[in-house]
Amino acid sequence: MDNIRNFSIIAHIDHGKSTLADRLIEVTGTIDKRKMQDQVLDSMDLERERGITIKMTPVRLNYKSSVGKSYIYNLIDTPGHIDFSYEVSRSLRAVEGAILLVDATQGVQAQTMTVLDMAREAGLKIIPVLNKIDSPLANIEETEDEVIRILKCERSEILRVSGKTGEGVPELLEQIIDLVPPPKSELDTKINLNSKSFRGLIFDFQYSSHQGVIIYTRVLDGEIKKGDDIKFIASNHDFIVREVGVLSPHKTETDSIKAGEVGYVVTGIKEPGAARVGDTITGTTSPLPAYPGYALPTPLVFASVYPEYQEYFDDLRSALNKLRLSDSSITFEEEQSGALGRGFRCGFLGMLHLEIITERLRREFDLTLIVTTPSITYEVTTRNGVELVYTPIHFPDHGEVISVREPWILTTIITPHAYLSNIMELNHDYEASVVEMEDWGDNRIRVVLEMPLRELMRNYFDVIKSASSGYASVAYEKGDMRPAHVTRMDIFVAEERVAAFSRVVPMHRVDKDADEAVEKLFTILPREWFRVKLQAYVQGRILASRSITALSKNVTGHLYGGDITRKMKLREKQKEGKKRMQEEGKVHISHDTFLKMMK
Ligand code: GDP
Ligand code: MG
Repeated sequence: MDNIRNFSIIAHIDHGKSTLADRLIEVTGTIDKRKMQDQVLDSMDLERERGITIKMTPVRLNYKSSVGKSYIYNLIDTPGHIDFSYEVSRSLRAVEGAILLVDATQGVQAQTMTVLDMAREAGLKIIPVLNKIDSPLANIEETEDEVIRILKCERSEILRVSGKTGEGVPELLEQIIDLVPPPKSELDTKINLNSKSFRGLIFDFQYSSHQGVIIYTRVLDGEIKKGDDIKFIASNHDFIVREVGVLSPHKTETDSIKAGEVGYVVTGIKEPGAARVGDTITGTTSPLPAYPGYALPTPLVFASVYPEYQEYFDDLRSALNKLRLSDSSITFEEEQSGALGRGFRCGFLGMLHLEIITERLRREFDLTLIVTTPSITYEVTTRNGVELVYTPIHFPDHGEVISVREPWILTTIITPHAYLSNIMELNHDYEASVVEMEDWGDNRIRVVLEMPLRELMRNYFDVIKSASSGYASVAYEKGDMRPAHVTRMDIFVAEERVAAFSRVVPMHRVDKDADEAVEKLFTILPREWFRVKLQAYVQGRILASRSITALSKNVTGHLYGGDITRKMKLREKQKEGKKRMQEEGKVHISHDTFLKMMK
């Protein structure tokens, strides 16, 4: 294993991970220069368009050192976004080193700190690298000062590169030999390895319609070959290995993949839920224990997804099942809403994950969707016990609620001093309080705040961006569950509760939220032939109310002069229509109204 080096690139979003990965692939000759396209590892259209990395992609590089020795480098490009932090934390367990990439034009940013914490927790060797040194906007010395501050390293340890021009990349490749420790078999020393024993950590997987689930694994011990009987420990599924190989960066079949290596395993599995990120695979004959730290992904935000046209309900179900084959973190269950029909209540890892999944449903499956306002999970204690409530309409009536708890988060903000007071002024409104503040000298400051996740979802990121003219960066981590003073608010339209408009709101904001909801509906609901009452109910009381006056358009208006009997007939018809509608008193809430209300 002496000639293997496994490492990851970690950074705040946009600091240039994918571009640097491109250069590493190019300089090592892994892909012919003529065939290179930008961000080769970002293979989904969505990733290329948005310039973000969603899926983790391992790639094997063959590197010949300056003294002519051959090495195998396994590079794992990680998604930078917070929503995927569990995946990132597992992929960090598949490597021994992490390149901490810092954009010299931006400096250390909030997510640099959170990924650095993860890399430290995984016990990785951290290699500080300054990127974008070609840019006229680069602040090399200042950024180095910040890196020295967070890593407590020497200035001479920081490498300087440009992923754009390739400057410094050959030096980085050479340094990796000495800086990243070679992999070790985990169990060699602890358990007497039977020659047949093996296990691998799954850090990602894909789905192909003819090969089934293809897992990406770091082999921890032993050797995995075609034909092996294998099982997923956590999900308890068995399969026979159909093919193994390495990604360089395209799938290349090999005889086996061995301890210390990173590769792929074709399973043929075609059911969702079998493969899971973080799970361990091992042989069924002489199984080894699971690699510690597996966790089921926990959805953080929930939203309901309905097909715009009900006849596409089954298509939506099969699309969700398909997506689950390559992303085990989506959860969904069927739900019924009077106005919207049948749909699914879906759980997502975060707001970006929600956006990606709904966008993929639209693009890859050609579905038109209605997506409700995202909400979080509350842990509600009633006389019947504790229940997790992830749909506002199911939040128990206040008489039944004994206590409620909700998820909190730790938010890291890095901002120039000049905007600190703007940011602090928002604390009260977002129920945030300062946990830690660290002055970074010259011009920047790092602030750690704690706040309810519910408040973050009120566009906190955008609000911070505008309070700091775009200069502050924000990242968050999940915290603990804490008592919450919240209640359900229902919206009634023409005396009927509209389930999709129910929300869970903090007690201290009920009046304001009730007013806003009614006001918004008042401006978007079209008028009817009768008066329509709009009301916000909280704990059995009406907190806000407005009425939309009835239409009184005279339908005979356009028939000037002429036939009086025809006019009479029309008036009669109009009266009848009005009477019928009034009797029913029903308001048809159009999809359009729903969409506007959800915004
Ligand atoms: P990622 O989100 O960390 O994967 O970042 P990307 O690799 O997608 O890069 C983000 C942006 O920075 C893109 O517009 C790149 O073209 C640009 N970029 C990346 N590396 C460099 C560099 O070394 N110099 C300059 N000037 N721009 C770069
Ligand atoms: Mg990227």
